[in-house]
Amino acid sequence: MANTVKLEIVTPDRKVLSEDVEYVGAPGALGEFGILPNHVPFLSALGIGNLYYKLGGKTYYVFVAGGFAEVSNNKCTILAEVAEMAHEIDVDRAKKAVDRAEERARQTKEKLDFARNQAALRRAMSRMSCQRSGKDAGTC
Ligand code: ATP
Repeated sequence: MANTVKLEIVTPDRKVLSEDVEYVGAPGALGEFGILPNHVPFLSALGIGNLYYKLGGKTYYVFVAGGFAEVSNNKCTILAEVAEMAHEIDVDRAKKAVDRAEERARQTKEKLDFARNQAALRRAMSRMSCQRSGKDAGTC
């Protein structure tokens, strides 16, 4: 029995990560799910949030938004619409995105696409928490 699972994270633009890891926690569209080595085949849509993986006693964080996760043959493939490792996140940009979303919510109540604005806000806040978690864990 393998004691690691291969984690691959890809977006339409690039390969973000390919690593043998001990555990993956990910934000499924219906809630967080966890993958240990030798997991049964599994498929889930991804929500907006922070994926994390454990390796050598450390926890690493990756922001993901939308897409799918598939597990088969001891490989966990994350096909994300958007993904960034914690160290890649531009926190100032995320703060500005929060400010813009809050300003839109204040200024344009009648015309506001609420779901779109909420998603932008959630992406920005998740990016900030991802980077903070990575820093706290000493892996960013
Ligand atoms: P913004 O309004 O700042 O563009 P967004 O949430 O609308 O944020 P996305 O559509 O999720 O941006 O992503 C567009 C591209 O920009 C993706 O390649 C994504 O990885 C990158 N990106 C967005 N925000 C950040 C950030 N704060 N740090 C690093 N990369 C980012």
